[in-house]
Amino acid sequence: MIEENVKNLLAEIPEFNPFGERVTLVAAVKLQTPESINRAISGGVTDIGDNHVQEFRDKFALISGSPRRHFIGHLQTNKIKYLLGKVDLYHSIDRYNLAEELSKKSAQAGVVSNILLQINIGNEETKGGFPLEEAEEAYAQIKKLPALKIEGLMAMMPFDADEQTILSLGKNMRQTYDALRKTDDNIKYLSMGMSGDWKPCVMAGSNLIRVGTAIFGARNYPTR
Ligand SMILES: *Cc1c(COP(=O)(O)O)cnc(C)c1O
Repeated sequence: MIEENVKNLLAEIPEFNPFGERVTLVAAVKLQTPESINRAISGGVTDIGDNHVQEFRDKFALISGSPRRHFIGHLQTNKIKYLLGKVDLYHSIDRYNLAEELSKKSAQAGVVSNILLQINIGNEETKGGFPLEEAEEAYAQIKKLPALKIEGLMAMMPFDADEQTILSLGKNMRQTYDALRKTDDNIKYLSMGMSGDWKPCVMAGSNLIRVGTAIFGARNYPTR
């Protein structure tokens, strides 16, 4: 099932990108076992994304095929040390002090960390991230930090948004992304889209999607 889901997705995704860009599929692996993740990899997944530092550490050595590693969850500054040098792209840089701390720790470890700036595209109180209007200012500030490489923007659409809203918010994201890309060749990812909304996100110009449920099925959240 998992392999087949991946194959179907990989076949379907390119049909939706209007710019002819390659769209990277990141498997969102929170609460999945290493066995399931390895099945997704044998189905063709090349990139995996974790939300939780503890899970990332527990599973790290049990994953086959050396996929690219993404960190897509909320990150506390005191957990950075566990991820340094092991994450290929941090999606969720949602505040200046996190960027500052990640740069400092990266410099101490002798690495450069690749990051995306998280944008709170729906201006939701429950989500982190910079307001879209402040993206360019945040970019300019964070760009000055020595041990980070900004590679683009990330957003999560409001949970209850309809397709028209997603398309319109997505296009706003793409405009800001394009403006940054004009002045900076390192900018290459617009990370937007999950199982329920990746199609309109890609139609709006996303070139990286983070998909869990559509690959692995519904997650079993621990009950207590
Ligand atoms: C869980 C998660 C996803 C994937 O969600 P699905 O709806 O299962 O595809 C994508 N992005 C982030 C940040 C997530 O936490």
